[in-house]
Amino acid sequence: MSAIPILEARKAQIHQKGAEPFDITCGKHSLAGSVSQRACVFCGSRVVLYPIADALHLIHGPIGCAAYTWDIRGALSSGPQLHRLSFSTDLREKDVIFGGEKKLAAALDELIDAYRPKAAFVYSTCIVGIIGDDVAAVCRKLAQDKGIPVLPVHSEGFKGTKKDGYKAACDALFRLVGTGSTEGISPLSINILGEFNIGGEAWMIRKYYEEMGIQVVSIMTGDGRVDDVARSHGASLNVVQCSGALTFMADMMKETYGIPYIRASYFGIDDMAKALYDVAAHFSTQPTVMETTRRIVRREVSAIMPELYRLKGDLSGKRAAIYVGGAFKAFSLIKALRYLGMAVVLVGSQTGSKADYATLQEMCNAGTVILDDANPLELSKYIIEKRADLFIGGVKERPIAFKMGIGFCDHNHERKIPLAGFEGMLHFAREVHASVTSPVWQFAPARKLAGHREEEFRA
Ligand code: SF4
Repeated sequence: MSAIPILEARKAQIHQKGAEPFDITCGKHSLAGSVSQRACVFCGSRVVLYPIADALHLIHGPIGCAAYTWDIRGALSSGPQLHRLSFSTDLREKDVIFGGEKKLAAALDELIDAYRPKAAFVYSTCIVGIIGDDVAAVCRKLAQDKGIPVLPVHSEGFKGTKKDGYKAACDALFRLVGTGSTEGISPLSINILGEFNIGGEAWMIRKYYEEMGIQVVSIMTGDGRVDDVARSHGASLNVVQCSGALTFMADMMKETYGIPYIRASYFGIDDMAKALYDVAAHFSTQPTVMETTRRIVRREVSAIMPELYRLKGDLSGKRAAIYVGGAFKAFSLIKALRYLGMAVVLVGSQTGSKADYATLQEMCNAGTVILDDANPLELSKYIIEKRADLFIGGVKERPIAFKMGIGFCDHNHERKIPLAGFEGMLHFAREVHASVTSPVWQFAPARKLAGHREEEFRA
């Protein structure tokens, strides 16, 4: 066992399957001093809205908050690239004392004239909540003057968890829904919610659905467009990925426009196939949709299986750690790793609910550590103790993996290749294989500390 201690107040958020009755605590504010891996409310709202490529994104706050740019989360666009520019009102001491409303109005005036966006999102950060700027009033005035939607995003970082940021983003986005024409929308139509097109996934998924004969009205928000969101209330079904981000939106659309929704994950063979079959089943009045879906799944799965089996040969018996934003993604990852013969020894998330963690503990083997809102020390401790060979996470988990001397797979912000869809499963397997079997880890001192034997380094 490693000598890394766990903070007393964190113990209720960590569970080891089989060691004690399952009763994990979650959904609460991060413990002060714990250096949580979790992002703030503002960051949660940015995750959701950022990929809308023809909108202006203005961060009302100090320049430090604006560090969260396209360079960190590179959502791809097939058209406009305005979302790649990060604007900030750069609030300083003087603004904190006298208020930042005038500065915000001037920035919006200048930026809207310069870039002619379809809409503008204005993100409130911590200090704006503290000094009490009336951001909504400034947005209303500018919307009137410029003739475009100018939408306040109430995302003051301190006011909750990253999940509250999702809600703030959905509240802003929902104000666009219903403002456009639904002309030309087929009864066989969907919106894809919660897919952010980091590596081109939205394009792959859209292609599958379109091949099935389903019209994709809008994707929220990967490769997103303001006009598509505005007419998204004309779709027959919402398909919601991930457990957190866009569920608020799906609920609001169901209540206001009566659009039903189903959950989906596009990661891994089983879940990707299910995402297509579930949509086909929804439109069962058209039997050709299901027939085409079967054909697509058969074609795609047979194309990737031979190489997956080859990679599995090297990966069987290796151990993986997972730490992700939403727990829903972890469900798919566990299944995908099983396809590769790998066991999950640690799994955690930033925003999981009690029900999510209950599902995780059912899916995992005895001894697996389940963590809510973890910090780097906890993750390092269990990586050492469980002798993980691979860490799957995002930008904040990468340095932990490398310090521990184990393979890493970015399943979050920084990836450049699509990991969703059938083809994405193969990309994932190749990446895991390349990282886990790299000979470089034999030189990592931490790896030896964890008790890995020499023969384990042989690929
Ligand atoms: S909104 Fe607050 S918590 Fe979030 S980055 Fe800015 S200062 Fe930090």
